[in-house]
Amino acid sequence: MPCSFHFYQNPPQITRGKMQYLYDDYVGGKYLDFFAGVSVMNCGHSNDTIIKDSIEQMKTLQHTTTIYLTQPIVDLAEKLSKVLPGDLNKSFFCLSGSEANEGAMLLAKLYTGNNEFIYLDAGLHGRTHLTMSVTGIDMWRASPNPELGTHRATGFYPNVAQNDFDLELAMNKSISSIEEILIKQNNKIAALIIEPIQGNGGILTPHKEYFIKLKSLLIKHNVLLIVDEVQTGFARTGKMFAIENFGITPDIMTIAKALGNGQPISAFCTTNEIAASFTRPSASTLGGNPVSSTTAISVLNYIENHSLCEHASKMGDYLTQGLQYLQNRHNIIRDIRGIGLMQGAELVEGISPAIEKTDKILESMKDNGILIGKNGLSRNVLAFQPPLVICKENIDECINKLDVVLKLV
Ligand code: PMP
Repeated sequence: MPCSFHFYQNPPQITRGKMQYLYDDYVGGKYLDFFAGVSVMNCGHSNDTIIKDSIEQMKTLQHTTTIYLTQPIVDLAEKLSKVLPGDLNKSFFCLSGSEANEGAMLLAKLYTGNNEFIYLDAGLHGRTHLTMSVTGIDMWRASPNPELGTHRATGFYPNVAQNDFDLELAMNKSISSIEEILIKQNNKIAALIIEPIQGNGGILTPHKEYFIKLKSLLIKHNVLLIVDEVQTGFARTGKMFAIENFGITPDIMTIAKALGNGQPISAFCTTNEIAASFTRPSASTLGGNPVSSTTAISVLNYIENHSLCEHASKMGDYLTQGLQYLQNRHNIIRDIRGIGLMQGAELVEGISPAIEKTDKILESMKDNGILIGKNGLSRNVLAFQPPLVICKENIDECINKLDVVLKLV
């Protein structure tokens, strides 16, 4: 089988999906999905309501160009302006998270007239050259060396493998390190780019006051804040956007993945004032095409009509309880973190990351019909990011099976 990078020695070959389930019809496998394609399928696989809307649109009009208006892109922009936090009113549409972050950084340059960026240890922002250059995880960068015009700051999460759980101290260290860069690079920085919860970094979740401190520091230095909600957005954390858990509004926000529930669509969103400096005729050729835009509207309606924010919050609390129960029973679980249905369990043996055991657990869970994700700087964090339509019984099943598997490894 042509595989480049799998979690599994023996990966499933998925043939169909329905809501929180995936199927491998070659071997008659049915899996409960706890990864949702890395926080993409928030509304569930092949969601009937959403695919019906997409197919109807596909039959009517697939694509023109942004030179003409189409109703879906206008409706989506309006609908987004209602759900985006604060005064974020304008959206520029593209296809992927990387493209949205590229667009956001271009916009920050155009607005501020500055050309440099700050990013954090353990953050990830995409696969284009610039977005890899502001990624703080070595395996996801183009090169381990610093790239011109980018500055890496200390991350916001303590090193739990070294028995450090002090979130407040980690917050203060991160803020000081950012301040140091701002002072040294006086008047050169356009923006700082950051995830509200660092997904690939290992579901690293900051102290609740982190963003308030960060925003006031950036305001003092006239530097924009770009919040990357590519992995955290659309009800996953119990709010429409994760940054709403932290009491601030960014200057620019990027969204992708779950916005299309499997269709390629992303956006960078900002205030009217900042948007006015985007002097390019278009952000992307296919971005915001009628099919993707219609799908995204359908996603937003589905989230609203099914109260997925409230549901994710409730299920998230229930999942946390389950993971805490496991942590009390199994020494290998060092740390549990996250918000809502974005949770991570870091696995260690002594002070070392339990890398091989993490793989064994994933494989074994898969053989027991449950697909969990994996991330973290040492790839030793179990990631629980299921479709938001899961129920208590699904969580019970996952926790019970994980309890057995953890006993065996
Ligand atoms: N930002 C974050 C936080 C992500 O998790 C990812 C993808 N894992 C990206 C950006 C890049 O998105 P895409 O793969 O759609 O380009």
